[in-house]
Amino acid sequence: MKKAIEGNWCQAHLADENLRQLLEKVDADLLQAAQVRGCQWCEGKLHRADYERKPRGGPAWDRRFSLCCAEEGCRRRHTPPSVRFLGRRVYVGLVVVLVSAMRHGLTAPRVQRIREQLGIDRRTLERWRQWWLATFVQGSFWKAAKARFLPRLCEATLPWSLAQAFGVECADGLRRLLEFLAPLTTRASPADRVG
Ligand SMILES: [Zn+2]
Repeated sequence: MKKAIEGNWCQAHLADENLRQLLEKVDADLLQAAQVRGCQWCEGKLHRADYERKPRGGPAWDRRFSLCCAEEGCRRRHTPPSVRFLGRRVYVGLVVVLVSAMRHGLTAPRVQRIREQLGIDRRTLERWRQWWLATFVQGSFWKAAKARFLPRLCEATLPWSLAQAFGVECADGLRRLLEFLAPLTTRASPADRVG
């Protein structure tokens, strides 16, 4: 196993203020792009209508950016993709991806220490594992996206194999991975079904 992978990169990312700001900026850009497009049903203007979140572990992000059509009689919600939140989980996407990936890449004591620091119980971790191995792997997003990875990624070690492909030891690689996963974070995606 490569040395960098054994390092403290996961904890470093979770404490990285620049990364936190960068992901906020990316979400703000995604929000703005959705607002410029306007309502997909009636072409009305979209107003801010954020969801409150109380995420555990990682940055104290308390708002999931969202929009609502201003037209009387439409009022449909438009929630843009996010690099910060993965579905309705109480943990931010960063934590779900990193901690799930760590299970395959780091020694058990180290994973346990980080898990305890973030207050993630064993059942939660198991639920995330099941989400990656079943919901994610069988979902339409991955079925369409996996062809772009050559050599083929090992699905049994997801999201670790994905994390390696994107080079998440550096913050830029992690941002790219979260951007890659962002389409999963909109409404009607399977990511919303696990809590
Ligand atoms: Zn509308």
